[in-house]
Amino acid sequence: MSLAYLQEEITRLQEAHIYQELRTLEGAQHVECVINGKKVINFSSNNYLGLTSHPKLIEAAHQAIDSHGVGTASVRTIIGTMDIHQELELRLAEFKHTEATLVLQSGFMANTAAITTILSEGDVIISDELNHASIIDACRMVKPIPTQVYRHKDMNHLEERLKAAKDFHHKLIVTDGVFSMDGDIAPLPDIVNLAEAYDAIVMVDDAHSSGVLGKNGRGSVNHFNLDGRVDIQVGTLSKAIGAMGGYIAGPEVLRKILINKARPFLFSTSHPPSVVATCLAALDVLQTEPQLIDKLWENTRYFKQGMQSLGFQADSDTPIVPVIAGDSEKAQKLSQKLFEAGIYGQAIVFPTVAKDKARIRVIVTASHTKAHLDQAVETFGQLGKELGII
Ligand SMILES: *Cc1c(COP(=O)(O)O)cnc(C)c1O
Repeated sequence: MSLAYLQEEITRLQEAHIYQELRTLEGAQHVECVINGKKVINFSSNNYLGLTSHPKLIEAAHQAIDSHGVGTASVRTIIGTMDIHQELELRLAEFKHTEATLVLQSGFMANTAAITTILSEGDVIISDELNHASIIDACRMVKPIPTQVYRHKDMNHLEERLKAAKDFHHKLIVTDGVFSMDGDIAPLPDIVNLAEAYDAIVMVDDAHSSGVLGKNGRGSVNHFNLDGRVDIQVGTLSKAIGAMGGYIAGPEVLRKILINKARPFLFSTSHPPSVVATCLAALDVLQTEPQLIDKLWENTRYFKQGMQSLGFQADSDTPIVPVIAGDSEKAQKLSQKLFEAGIYGQAIVFPTVAKDKARIRVIVTASHTKAHLDQAVETFGQLGKELGII
């Protein structure tokens, strides 16, 4: 049997302007970088604080390779838990103000592990409609447990769902802390109040909030002073932290059950020492260089003001700034023209976002200079007019 039939689907994607090709970053990944042979200013990376090339993180990675080797060659439960894995989990728990944490291979895996491990028949998941794909997939994996979706950040709808779920045993409310495509923040205080009133469990995915919101980047729960009132916090080590991985923070019983039952934890090899050491160094930097987060927010405000003064909406709550182009064709055209003008802003199209909300998702970082931000605003302004977006 040949796989040639897949070409039909590829053609369909191309005709719908949602087909993607990989673009290659060549060499050093600074804000000014080389992509597909062209020098551009990068506005698409989740490298919020510039930590992927921070000298202290690089040094820590080198040292860990020398002291512990390049890989672990085992899952955590056999011989893949090293002293530094334990140290990272203790440090993360301290950072998140929780009893315990457990590190997984990625944020995606952390969501899968949490959702598929803690529920059983008779339970229900209540999920925001714009939650990340990894949450949606995890919910699909735990059949026969039903998932009830509530309209994005709509607290009346969430309450309706909670009322209707009174006969279920455990009710899990799950939400992104910061929504990855619109850059808006979940109304966590209201969610927590509702959860307490209706006796539900709350899980927050803080992938885009870690290193961005809260004291020293502790995340959205800390940002809202809700420490101790959210049962499960998922975080990623792959975005602002600059390395790779995900973690689940919560009470010790949660960690214990995950160690024993979470399949992504049990059946996939643990992080290489260099990655673990990088994350430990990143936690140090969050404590010792809070000015990075200040710079991130200063740049964010500056960029949004510039965009708004040109007539772009640019009204998100975080450094994620969606520049809505309309349909996928227009978004891809805008992305291509930005690229030709030296600005890298990848188009985000269906199914990642709704068909008529295709966009360039700009991510402002602490490493951008005012000159970079000015150049981006000016280019967006010219192209926005040319394409009839503003
Ligand atoms: C990126 C992201 C993830 C996945 O994290 P990785 O560490 O990249 O696997 C999970 N949830 C949200 C909301 C994300 O934005």
